[in-house]
Amino acid sequence: MRYSHRFVDHTEFPHAAGKAVCVGRNYADHAKELGNEIPTSPLLFMKPGTAMVAMAEPLALPEGLGACHHELEMALLIGQPLSRAAPKESRAAIAGVGLALDLTLRELQDELKKKGQPWERAKAFDGACPLAEFVVFDQALDFSLLTLRLSRNGIVQQQGSCGDMLFSVENLLSEISHSFSLMPGDVVLTGTPAGVGPLSSGDHLLAELGDFLRVETVVR
Ligand code: ZN
Repeated sequence: MRYSHRFVDHTEFPHAAGKAVCVGRNYADHAKELGNEIPTSPLLFMKPGTAMVAMAEPLALPEGLGACHHELEMALLIGQPLSRAAPKESRAAIAGVGLALDLTLRELQDELKKKGQPWERAKAFDGACPLAEFVVFDQALDFSLLTLRLSRNGIVQQQGSCGDMLFSVENLLSEISHSFSLMPGDVVLTGTPAGVGPLSSGDHLLAELGDFLRVETVVR
């Protein structure tokens, strides 16, 4: 079944799933755990709409391509076109807040990095962007108070505060919109805190955003 964005009341978002724009190394502790420099401007990459799947459905990982890591991230659903926007204008484009797994074939990514090649083969495969249902965005939401948590088989693997992001939501959306227009149905993945690691068949995952979004899933 083709993926479409949904809200937590299961209503379908009226725009087709577009692209996912992702930011690498937006949490200092995660940049350090992979031995990367802390960036001075956001490191951006994309996943196509064909990578999107519903997070609550059993996750299918690529086979024979080495370790596939979980990166739990806050996801923003875009509801209005955004081009060359100032940071303070950018919040108006957010329609929903949710959770994503930026699934990453880590060994393949390391090989690509060494060769100086783009990361798509490690990041953009079918199923590489599981998305939770979205909570309707409240313009008064203070992102810095939100926490992200991923538990794997009952053990907390990743835990972070969105307040620790190196680039705030407003600055990130503004920066992105100066490189690529964001359109309704696009999603922005805001980076992952430390604790990334490999997934295995049969894993049970619990992903949480603050106290308002909770998704359980399994790895096929
Ligand atoms: Zn990521």
